[in-house]
Amino acid sequence: MVSLSEKTSFDVEALRKDFPILATQPHDGVPLVYLDNAASTQRPRQVIDKIVETYEKHYANVHRGIHWLSESSTDLYEEARRKVQAFIAAPRLEEVVFTRGTTEGLNLVARSWGDANVSAGDEILLTELEHHSNIVPWQQLAERRGAVIRWVPISDDGRLEIDAFDALLNERTKIVSVAAVSNVLGTRCPVEAIARRAHDAGAVVVVDAAQSVPHEPTDVQKLGVDFLAFSGHKMLGPSGVGVVWGRAELLDAMPPFMGGGSMIRRVTKDGFEPADIPTKFEAGTPPIVPAIGLGAAIDYLQQVGLAGVHEHEQRLTQYAHERMSEIEGLHIYGPAPQLKAGIVSFTIDGVHAHDIAQLLDRDGVAVRAGHHCAMPLHERLGATATTRASFYLYNTSAEVDALVDSLGRAKSMFSGRHRRRRSG
Ligand code: PLP
Repeated sequence: MVSLSEKTSFDVEALRKDFPILATQPHDGVPLVYLDNAASTQRPRQVIDKIVETYEKHYANVHRGIHWLSESSTDLYEEARRKVQAFIAAPRLEEVVFTRGTTEGLNLVARSWGDANVSAGDEILLTELEHHSNIVPWQQLAERRGAVIRWVPISDDGRLEIDAFDALLNERTKIVSVAAVSNVLGTRCPVEAIARRAHDAGAVVVVDAAQSVPHEPTDVQKLGVDFLAFSGHKMLGPSGVGVVWGRAELLDAMPPFMGGGSMIRRVTKDGFEPADIPTKFEAGTPPIVPAIGLGAAIDYLQQVGLAGVHEHEQRLTQYAHERMSEIEGLHIYGPAPQLKAGIVSFTIDGVHAHDIAQLLDRDGVAVRAGHHCAMPLHERLGATATTRASFYLYNTSAEVDALVDSLGRAKSMFSGRHRRRRSG
């Protein structure tokens, strides 16, 4: 099999050396083929070193102490915020709020903006593509406020029905919340167009960017949205940290999400006065070292260049589609490779998604199986479960070959069993 030609400007083999975990061998000398990046990515040495260095030389609580260690820790934490600001082209630093992840960011918007602005009979527009993190917080909001959720349908090949979106938008639509990239189908949503139309209808636009920010350049001003949430662990950073970006005038007007230390200017027995943004939304001790680690991950991604990462993943996805279509009875869900990100979810006739994942694991190939926290989408697809391979900057065409070879073995093992059962 002819290998996909990797561009010399994007040297995957050199990048792989930065990731110690990629050299581990799951079983008996079988190399690890890590294709579960949509769930969580791995960390390069540069991020791990930054975490260790912070604990060894700079760690203390932030924003509180007047001692030098606390100042050092605070400087690094705030530097990480500046890195995030530049990474997503946020107009103002205080618009960058550190959270524990995408889930917390979306809950923050639903609770804080939602409770203050959504009333009975108002409508929240979601798509059939969403992850549970971009469904349940809105369902909870709808329950609290008596609002109604409307669903933008998708086509059979997993693209958003934009005409149906237009038809669903109306003066009662208060929120439009969409995933920039589906974590199951890899479908890219036309966020800019959605934002323009939603704003014309007077709605606020929220983007679940968990699967887009790690893989392609993001400019919140160009997107023209109001809130955007993502997670550190899906972009080479630590788990336990994420970001919700929001337009300053909206964040300023919103009540705090959680109460506690740090988020106040003053507390008396009678009440409290919240601090300014972003502190108002960062109650308690924040994820200090994870945020600093996220800053290091951003440095790494910027050095590699997100445009190159995106191109590399496009080539891998195209190649994976080509090679996987060689397997009879294998069905890939979602649109054509050029319309999607580096995520390939599939089923094989007669083999359960979990069995496929288990057999692949024997060959050292790590994928995910199940509903991928998108049960309404699986219902729409008519599948209870799919197996998902998802790529990142360190994956290679040889790993796609390993996946396809292992799938071939899994398939023949199962058809062998079926033949034996039928003849037995
Ligand atoms: N949204 C999407 C599209 C995701 O893929 C995920 C994670 O898989 C999330 C939200 C939730 O992210 P986290 O678990 O980091 O909060």
